[in-house]
Amino acid sequence: MYDITTVREDFPILSRQIYNRPLVYLDNGATTQKPRCVVEAMVDEYYNVNANVHRGVHFLSQQATDLHEASRETVRAFINARSVNEVLFTRGTTESINLLAFSFGEAFVHEGDEIVVSTMEHHSDIVPWQMLCQRKGAKLRVIPMSDDGVLDLEAYSSLLNERTRIVCCAHVSNVLGTVNPVGEVIARAHTMNIPVLIDGAQSTPHFAVDMQALDCDFFAFSGHKIYGPTGVGVLYGKEDWLDRLPPYQGGGEMIKNVSFENTTYNTLPYKFEAGTPDYVATHALAKALDYVTALGMDNIFRHEQELTRYAMTQMSRIDGMRIFGPSDNHDAVISFLVGDIHHLDMGTLLDRLGIAVRTGHHCAEPLMRRLGIEGTVRASFGLYNTLEEVDALVEGIERVVKMF
Ligand code: PLP
Repeated sequence: MYDITTVREDFPILSRQIYNRPLVYLDNGATTQKPRCVVEAMVDEYYNVNANVHRGVHFLSQQATDLHEASRETVRAFINARSVNEVLFTRGTTESINLLAFSFGEAFVHEGDEIVVSTMEHHSDIVPWQMLCQRKGAKLRVIPMSDDGVLDLEAYSSLLNERTRIVCCAHVSNVLGTVNPVGEVIARAHTMNIPVLIDGAQSTPHFAVDMQALDCDFFAFSGHKIYGPTGVGVLYGKEDWLDRLPPYQGGGEMIKNVSFENTTYNTLPYKFEAGTPDYVATHALAKALDYVTALGMDNIFRHEQELTRYAMTQMSRIDGMRIFGPSDNHDAVISFLVGDIHHLDMGTLLDRLGIAVRTGHHCAEPLMRRLGIEGTVRASFGLYNTLEEVDALVEGIERVVKMF
């Protein structure tokens, strides 16, 4: 059903040797490798179709526009949004959140208001809100978590009040692997009519997401973390919210009419898409979504869960091993430290064995502070990783431990 050998053949980079060893790529949380169909779609579009979208009456422009808009429909279906008007193309999660923080902030946030984020947010779901708070004289409130990285929902409920304007929460922590109870986070906010943004950068690649079932108001993700190209991402927003938000950037495409006296704005989704979009990337993103859909998001989830559970079991046998995050509801990201070996030393030595992992604070300095550490080593799995690669990681860690 899920033939890992065939799957791996779709990713040419996986057959590379690094320092004369087979590459073991375990930095999928940072970015994923690309299957042939994604790269070929880009090459084909540049060679055979390329023209600016939405602007030309000529054949190529029409064709490029059709591909671009068909990609929006592919994204809509993939996340089960109600309408393509709810799918905004951006450069990635970071831009999606900045768009929302600016636009939502302009319309709805005033002095003394509060924005709720969680302890385990990526900097891109903290700093844009902080900047908004500084602009508007609003205040950031933080949902606390337990030592093993589980959000404190009671404390969360007590943070919500009539001054809370929006709640922003990661679906899956990029450091701890925690799958947050976002259904509960959303439901509790909605009892007080507070909208919720879910940062889906680390959930979308690993399991099926459904906007209508989740009922979040906004949702952000990046193409490059789900086997698509860099430079493209999505902000989903419920249509009635997006209708009420002012544009983020001004320019071509986002307008209906422009005069020096008065400019009117385009309808959704174009109101938020000023300038030439990366239409080659949107087309390739659709190819990536088609690719994971054909494999089956449920199959991908099962495969990565097997890798994660196996890795956690094998790694916890290593003396001095400290794995961060919860033992349940743990997605395909494992952050760890061994004894007092510095994360950078561990990462550098694993690299010499051909094993690519991430080290450092993972753009989550407040979380590091909460855990009382400077950084971790992070192994993150993708749909093409194997149990043998987990063994290579475990053996690699053991070798490094022996060296110390
Ligand atoms: N949010 C989370 C949870 C992430 O893991 C990341 C990237 O690592 C981001 C946001 C930012 O994504 P991007 O750099 O693609 O905009």
